[in-house]
Amino acid sequence: MKNLIGKKFLTANKAVRIYKVEIPYASIPSHVTNYSNGEFKLFCTKLLINGCSMKGLLNDYQRISIRMKFPGTSNTISISIEGSGFVNMLASERLASLETSVNTLMKKKEAILTATQGSSNFGQSTSTIPFSETDPDKIIQHFFQQSEQIDTAFYTHYFKGHWIGYMVQALPGADVGEVEKIISNLRSSHSENLWQQFEAEWLFLTNFLFTTECYCTKEMYGQLLLSWSHTDLIESIENSHSEEMVCTSCGKKYHYTPKELSLLLGREV
Ligand SMILES: [Zn+2]
Repeated sequence: MKNLIGKKFLTANKAVRIYKVEIPYASIPSHVTNYSNGEFKLFCTKLLINGCSMKGLLNDYQRISIRMKFPGTSNTISISIEGSGFVNMLASERLASLETSVNTLMKKKEAILTATQGSSNFGQSTSTIPFSETDPDKIIQHFFQQSEQIDTAFYTHYFKGHWIGYMVQALPGADVGEVEKIISNLRSSHSENLWQQFEAEWLFLTNFLFTTECYCTKEMYGQLLLSWSHTDLIESIENSHSEEMVCTSCGKKYHYTPKELSLLLGREV
């Protein structure tokens, strides 16, 4: 596994934590960079970078999966972040081959985000919120603020051949607006010198490892499907509707028949 390295910092007052990832363009999965729909390509890239930053939150046994369901049938994209460091994305075949933009989809009505967090020891919890943003930075920020009630913000940008992502999160004792202030400082700085100055003011805590390389399997994505709302899967089964999915990281296609979906759910077939 080719590891990339993220960094975890605390602000000097120890009230805000910051996760930073830096990903060479060459480590963005080729399937993402080959999308002809430029807007979807950017959406997937930013979602991937956000997922890599979130890896900093997890210990080895934890995982987070986030699924976004856009208006229309089978317009879903999921990102799975494993404590072991694997960050993978899976989209419905229909969404991945979409010619229209996420913006256009969102004009119709709200989209739904479902996040599942858990570990092998403590089971998992799921929360669902509607969202209307079209930028992954804002969508995930909205999730942390609405569902987790933790002031959190993301900033993802491209600089000199690298994608750089920051996740900034308030800890108890943080001032109101402190997270937003850090993000706006980062956003308004356009030189390496300025970023280095910010980092020099933070306390470096630790590195964390992750990879954007894909080793996906049908079983692995089956587990991701299970973290979805079971109502959707049951609806597919009852309508004899297969789920056609494409791994957004490597481009492999996966087909789950109603029978396979039933088996995943542990239902009699
Ligand atoms: Zn894959």
